[in-house]
Amino acid sequence: MSESRLREQITLFGKSLFDRGLTMGSSGNISARLDDGWLLTPTNSCLGRLDPAAIAKLDKDGNHLSGDPPSKEGFLHRAVYEERAGAGAIVHLHSTHSVAVSCLPEVDARDVLPPLTAYYVMRVGTLPLVPYYPPGDRTLAEAVRGLAGKHSAMLLANHGPVVAGKTLEAALYATEELEETARLYLLLHGRNPRCLTPEQVTALQK
Ligand SMILES: [Zn+2]
Repeated sequence: MSESRLREQITLFGKSLFDRGLTMGSSGNISARLDDGWLLTPTNSCLGRLDPAAIAKLDKDGNHLSGDPPSKEGFLHRAVYEERAGAGAIVHLHSTHSVAVSCLPEVDARDVLPPLTAYYVMRVGTLPLVPYYPPGDRTLAEAVRGLAGKHSAMLLANHGPVVAGKTLEAALYATEELEETARLYLLLHGRNPRCLTPEQVTALQK
């Protein structure tokens, strides 16, 4: 996909996320890989009102080349791109239900959400919890880097999801599936739901 088309797609998807309340204020950021670097939404920008021409362009090492100053969370995206050669795009949100789950003390940090539905298993799979670090702490990038090789989606504790996909559309759909599953998990909390069995999960992973 051309750079200009990717800029339009980031703008369109950002507005879609904002319009549905999946991102608020200037939180959240979206990136897409290019042949010679990557695009990243600007710092302090609202995903609902992006200007395609102002989206930041960075080189492969994360140096700012053009557009508005990039999101300060760019180091998260860079860590994932460097560990996942097949990642074409990354979505990071502070979406309400995912953040709520990321604050629960009793979740399994190796895989936060149970296999409630087939689409969650197929689009997200396992979801590790990354320990909490303050915003901008570079230790967070190293924690993400340590998990990104094996996992396309991660949940940052008391913060939100980071989801990579082959395409921007795939990253977006997986992020939405994660958010909806977090919502289901909270709705079902304390009700002992019937989850997919290990055999059913294995069959979906094939
Ligand atoms: Zn964040």
